[in-house]
Amino acid sequence: MPELPEVETVRRALAPVLVGRSFQRVRIDDARLTRPFEPGGVVRRLRGERVAGVERRGKYLVLRFDSGRSLLVHLRMTGSLRHAPGGRLDSDAYRRALVRLDDGSALGFRDVRRFGTWLVLEPGELEPYLAARLGPEPLEPSFRGRDLAARLAGRRAPVKAAILDQRTVAGVGNIYADEALWRARVHPRREARSLDAGEVQALHRAIRDALRLGIARQGSTLTDYRLPDGAPGGMQDEFRVYGREGEPCERCGTPVERTVVAGRGTWYCPACQRLEA
Ligand SMILES: [Zn+2]
Repeated sequence: MPELPEVETVRRALAPVLVGRSFQRVRIDDARLTRPFEPGGVVRRLRGERVAGVERRGKYLVLRFDSGRSLLVHLRMTGSLRHAPGGRLDSDAYRRALVRLDDGSALGFRDVRRFGTWLVLEPGELEPYLAARLGPEPLEPSFRGRDLAARLAGRRAPVKAAILDQRTVAGVGNIYADEALWRARVHPRREARSLDAGEVQALHRAIRDALRLGIARQGSTLTDYRLPDGAPGGMQDEFRVYGREGEPCERCGTPVERTVVAGRGTWYCPACQRLEA
């Protein structure tokens, strides 16, 4: 499931080929993509729009248009975007939308599980929409350890559930949460409010380090995630705990264990990440 590093990788690949280009033709083949809005209306609002910027907020990809409108794309579980400079995308039973750009290139949206969404927002709607749903960007310099501390304070929820909450910190999902907690040596089931100042500092750094490594490796491809040219990411070869049940912790050699926290499969080292001090 794409998280911040995967969406950021897509953003970096698409910005140079989309900025300045206009949406000449738009086709939406799946009404679920734009729910509760009719695909026909969304197509009409997108047609002719010229891309002014390609941005990211949390796990959202944001296409800003000259008109002030924006298109908010969420990949959810299996969504991915493909860009074909020559305009020829391979035929694909899972393509849900297709955009023809004014330079002859094509942008396709593929989504096997069909949870991905496209939402067109009018000028002025984007910031309040995102502000209501997302906390700070973890890689912004303005995001400090004390901001994370304030967001964890008083919460009885497991710390993993707290950092999966997009209002705590934007863009962290199941993979990078497990990787960050291992780096910080914090057990995923610890109550968020029980972390001391040193642990919060370690977690703050760990979240940023795990996300930065994910971006450097162009995201993790387990099943569906691909770069816009179709290439896989490489972060899956860098996992310290995620999906590595029974393999030795690279810090201490103890076999990595799997449990369930906040309803999600969760991997951790039982020796490095203690529940009780
Ligand atoms: Zn360990």
